Amino acid sequence: MIYHRKQINPAYTKSYLLEIIGMMHSSYFRSGINFEWFSNTLTNLLLLTKSKTGIICEVHYKKDGTPYLKSNIIDNAIWSEDEKKFYSNNKDEALTLFNFSDLSKQVLQTKKAFLSNKSKTELELDEHNKNPALTNFLVLPIKGYDETIVSILLVGNNPEGYSSELIDFLDPFISTFGLLIEHDRQRLINENRERKLVSQKILFDKLAKNESLENILHSIIKSFESNISNTKCCILLLDETRKKISTCLAPGLPNFIHDLVIGLPIEDYLGSSDFLALRKETVLVNDIISRPIWEKFTDLTTKANLNSYWSIPIINRNDSIFGIVSFYHNHPHNPTEEEIGELSDIADISKVAIERKYAELEQQQAKESAEESEKKLLEAQELSHVGSWEFITETDTVTWSKELFNIFERSTDLPAPKYSEQEPFYTNESFTKLNKALLACVQFEKPYNIELDIYTSNGSIRHIISKGSVKKDKKNRIIGAYGTAQDITQKKKTEQELIKAKEKAEEANRLKTEFLNNMSHEIRTPMNGIIGFSDLLDEPDVTAEQRKEFTKIIQNSSYQLLRIIDDIIDISTLETKQDLLHESEFCLNDLLSDLFSIFNLKSKERNVAFSINKRIQDEHSYIVSDETKINKILSNLIENAFKYTHEGLVELGCYLEKDTLIIYVKDTGIGISSQNHTMIFERFSRENNDKINKYGGLGLGLSIAKENARLLGGELSLESEKGKGATFYLKLPYKSTKKSFKVVEEKRTLVISENIKPTILVVEDEEINFFYINKIFEVILKGRFKIIHAKNGKEAVGICLKDKSIDLVLMDIKMPVMDGYEAILTIKPILPNLPIIAQTAYSSESDRKKAFEHGFDGFITKPINDKILIETISKHLQNVN
Ligand code: ADP
Repeated sequence: MIYHRKQINPAYTKSYLLEIIGMMHSSYFRSGINFEWFSNTLTNLLLLTKSKTGIICEVHYKKDGTPYLKSNIIDNAIWSEDEKKFYSNNKDEALTLFNFSDLSKQVLQTKKAFLSNKSKTELELDEHNKNPALTNFLVLPIKGYDETIVSILLVGNNPEGYSSELIDFLDPFISTFGLLIEHDRQRLINENRERKLVSQKILFDKLAKNESLENILHSIIKSFESNISNTKCCILLLDETRKKISTCLAPGLPNFIHDLVIGLPIEDYLGSSDFLALRKETVLVNDIISRPIWEKFTDLTTKANLNSYWSIPIINRNDSIFGIVSFYHNHPHNPTEEEIGELSDIADISKVAIERKYAELEQQQAKESAEESEKKLLEAQELSHVGSWEFITETDTVTWSKELFNIFERSTDLPAPKYSEQEPFYTNESFTKLNKALLACVQFEKPYNIELDIYTSNGSIRHIISKGSVKKDKKNRIIGAYGTAQDITQKKKTEQELIKAKEKAEEANRLKTEFLNNMSHEIRTPMNGIIGFSDLLDEPDVTAEQRKEFTKIIQNSSYQLLRIIDDIIDISTLETKQDLLHESEFCLNDLLSDLFSIFNLKSKERNVAFSINKRIQDEHSYIVSDETKINKILSNLIENAFKYTHEGLVELGCYLEKDTLIIYVKDTGIGISSQNHTMIFERFSRENNDKINKYGGLGLGLSIAKENARLLGGELSLESEKGKGATFYLKLPYKSTKKSFKVVEEKRTLVISENIKPTILVVEDEEINFFYINKIFEVILKGRFKIIHAKNGKEAVGICLKDKSIDLVLMDIKMPVMDGYEAILTIKPILPNLPIIAQTAYSSESDRKKAFEHGFDGFITKPINDKILIETISKHLQNVN
């Protein structure tokens, strides 16, 4: 390299040089290195070197070590102040001047000054019209503490040219410059470090105080914003799906920017470079206006004075993205390396806060979900009555879940008892069983599943199923056992109940079969009597006395048969719950007297005394209840009393006990052993259920009586011992009527004048039934009635309407062509005064009720009893004359 030597006046310039160095120092220590410092320094350097133009720039190094330049100041006498400002603000552009980078490259490579007094025509690229071409120049490297080049100075266009001595002469200047620049750099680095420490301290303080993430990030943002002028910082956080922005922390940005980004689906924007940060890349947008993606928002960004934008991602340790940190600048602006550094610092520090907070959150969630699943487990255990346990052999300790405490009915206030203390918790047999199973489990790793009986705290026994398996530590050494215990007490009880119910059903089935066999026997016996003795009656040699005896047998057999049929009907109406109460006022003492007279006859036949003991005065014996049902119950009890008593006494009596009316039937018969006291009230049950039961009977009577007693609001009970007789008590609520009335004794004889012969229409489809009724009129009533026969309702209607002489109708109900109900509905509107009596095999209370509802005047059940027939006819023909 050839240097054009020129003489300098060292005396003059040396003192000037020292003056300049002094000024550089004092200015630096007054206000640090700033634009003014550079400007003054360059001006002085130009004067000192008699140069017309010059530039000072910093050298920076990228991470890979590549150097690059940023201009601090550029000077040209003919430039206006504005132009100078422009280039100092746009440092990159400044470096394009006179292809400065080429010159500097050489200096950077050689680390030596570079001088040329030749006009560099090849460098005269006059991009900026006003830029002077370099006629000559001197480029000086400035070294830092560690010999790296930190700055480059260029001066040019000295009309006298530059000499190499100038380089030595400038040495103190260069050293001072380098020193101050380096000092300033270190100061900045220290300041930065300090600031970072302060920020971190703030962060940790806030984390320690458990402040919200928002608060923490706000203060981080504020502390960074205060360091970088004209910049607003913004942290955007993603939601859990990492698909939407959920939080916008930007205290310096207006609300409409917040509104704009919150909830923004990032997918839509991922294609654009502006959201590349969300793909973990750094984004630098030096001019928002020119970015198409911002087109929709430029109104807003202009309004907010946001012109450039740089973003970097906040990435956690697992390499997934939390969000981004962005700086918005008020000018179109390319960030400096420091600014990028700031950005990454804030991302780092935010990351610490976010990670810590998210970890806390996760920890909290994990804790909650662990608690929740623990709770669910306990609930499930409670529902299924399953508890869990653990046993550590070495320490003899046992732990129980809450449900296991419940199963043992022990308080959870104390810990579960040690295994060696658990013996009293089990029955002897169960504890032995448990010991054996547990030993095999911890010695030979044999799991077990056994049923045990335990004692609860109140001494009651519960059944459990205990399951156990061996427990090992991490090194696979056996340390004890663990398992579950399920309370199966209820299950066992239900099983036993089921077995009982099954046995009961089988028993009921057996009883029913027996009943059918029995019934066949019970029906055949009276039927044989009826058929056999009816045949005998036909015999020509039968004497009058024998005839009377046979007829008696036939009558008794018929009543016996009728009773069986009545019982069967009763039980089926009770079963279908069709039997209703028909309450009325009546005199209980009269009812008992009637029963006494009826059964007195039987007492004589059986040679067993019968007495009545009415301990209620007549005036108190008027009650409201269902007379028919009481009659039925008592008839049954008295019937049984005579049936099962061979000698001694049967007593019928009644008395009051507070509000309860008690009617009893007592006998001195065979009695009933106490274990059968409940059973005999069940259907088809008899004390001696042998096939050959000398007493006969279907085992229905007492069950009907009991059910009827219940319907009356009372109960039927029994006191008896085998061989010592029995007393049955019918206990009823005592509902007395204040009004005392006397039932008018109905006349049992025909009260019709002998001079008249009333006409009776008998409506009956069954020939045999008509024949029987006709015979009663012929034989017992000696032809005192004219009888007309109709075979169905239709015929009856025709006859009634035609024959005005008919005085009374005896109407069957179930008939072909037209039934009794339909017939009466036709006749009654026309002949309302004609008495029509229903005569029917439907004998229940509801049948009776139905008949009266249809307009029948009376009701006689089949088989027709001659006495009842006469009474009823007499009653309804009283007005005939
Ligand atoms: P049945 O008398 O038709 O067998 P019940 O239901 O009336 O049916 O009676 C059930 C059983 O109760 C009888 O079979 C009999 O064993 C017993 N029983 C009923 N009343 C008496 C009584 N007064 N004395 C002894 N045993 C009786």
